[in-house]
Amino acid sequence: MERKEILYKSTRSDSAPISASQAILKGLADDGGLFVPVNIPALDKTPAELAAMDYRGVAYEVMKLWLTDFTEKELRHCIDSAYDSKFDVPEIAPLKETSDAFYLELFHGATIAFKDMALSILPHLMITSAAKNKAENEIVILTATSGDTGKAALAGFADVKGTRIIVFYPKDGVSSIQERQMVTQKGDNTCVIGIRGNFDDAQTGVKKIFTDPALKEEMASHGFQFSSANSINIGRLVPQIVYYVYAYTRLLKDGRIKEGGKVNYVVPTGNFGNILAAYYAGRMGLPVGKLICASNSNKVLFDFFETGTYDRNRPFILTSSPSMDILISSNLERLLYHVSGDDAGVDGRLMNELSRTGRYSVTDSMREAMKDFAGGYATEEETFEEIRTVYEKDQYVIDPHTAVASAVYRRYKKETGDDTLSVIASTASPFKFESAVMKALGQPADLDDLELADRLSEIAGVKVPEAVSGLRGAEVRHKTVCGKDGMEKEVRRFLGM
Ligand SMILES: *Cc1c(COP(=O)(O)O)cnc(C)c1O
Repeated sequence: MERKEILYKSTRSDSAPISASQAILKGLADDGGLFVPVNIPALDKTPAELAAMDYRGVAYEVMKLWLTDFTEKELRHCIDSAYDSKFDVPEIAPLKETSDAFYLELFHGATIAFKDMALSILPHLMITSAAKNKAENEIVILTATSGDTGKAALAGFADVKGTRIIVFYPKDGVSSIQERQMVTQKGDNTCVIGIRGNFDDAQTGVKKIFTDPALKEEMASHGFQFSSANSINIGRLVPQIVYYVYAYTRLLKDGRIKEGGKVNYVVPTGNFGNILAAYYAGRMGLPVGKLICASNSNKVLFDFFETGTYDRNRPFILTSSPSMDILISSNLERLLYHVSGDDAGVDGRLMNELSRTGRYSVTDSMREAMKDFAGGYATEEETFEEIRTVYEKDQYVIDPHTAVASAVYRRYKKETGDDTLSVIASTASPFKFESAVMKALGQPADLDDLELADRLSEIAGVKVPEAVSGLRGAEVRHKTVCGKDGMEKEVRRFLGM
């Protein structure tokens, strides 16, 4: 079947649309907006047809509709290079059923968090995009991380020819395993820097460097161009749509739902990328019921869905789910664009207000267009209690991020009586946040990382993943720490400019 061409434009102004490969290369639009599709493509296979395919097959059927300037050969090559034995299960994203819900395990890749689902393919999409556009500059990936993106991007880009990668993380805002994973990263093209600040500081700093026109020119004169591995890149977003479709087709195949039956998705949310992918899956024609957006104590999104006002003026709280410790959810900008009737003027004004005052309110009609979203949040106490509850009921150990979603779902179901089959996105392995998990389970937690992993392995009845056992004795290669105003200087130093 002929593929309908999909082009991408900015959320903030009516710039000329560009191809998928160009949008992947650029990362962010020149006006600081994010790239969105001019039209959202529709699935051209039925869920029953997709149910006969494996993960890679479903990935191709979904991604071909978005990345329309990739040939079949190019796209299949990217998919086959990403979803291979780096994942420790053949299903890639298995579904685990417990007494109360289904957990979609998105943590079977190299760094045991869901970021691997997209970041194992992004380098391939990017190199292919560079070749298609005859880009000659070396690609410099600049990324801010709340912990998981950084390592997954480093693992994806390490030693990839024609690329370099620089990762900034909040020095005191990530778990011990997360930091250790990053600072031991190998590869001469990698650079990891801790910043004295939180994730929002890191993200704001990266965006500033990214959109500085003078720096962009100077970079080009040295043979470099920036791109982003953050979830603002559509090359991150599109691969994430795949597993929502995939999960649906597995439920169909197992007879758990009838064709056309709706499924709710519950997503532990930070930057709003993962849940936005679920929204896009629904817009493509997948029968999606509610999209339940779960926050931790940084519940800016919960308040937004309750009141229609987004307000980041509040204390930033460090929690045991650090990848969700975010007050500016970048990808919400894309949802606002779509629910305003694809009006870049509206979105541009809201984003301007956000950067000026830290808040904005949306109209009633925009709220109406978001009625399939439900917001919820879980406190630290509720998160820990949820880890215990799920373990006691099913001997299944979940990580704190997944536990936030699981707790939110439990409350949602009780309060609404909605018993639609629900899939909870399980975004990290409990081994990545083992100290919090052990505490929640009432176990001693003040042990060395690797000892803790062995204990957790006994309790959970699962093997210690290679991503953790491989840290034993690994050399610390990255030691730089800078203030939030020193980020550009560090970038220059690494690039020799
Ligand atoms: C990144 C991350 C999230 C949040 O995902 P977003 O796409 O930023 O909303 C949740 N859980 C884990 C473990 C993560 O790494």
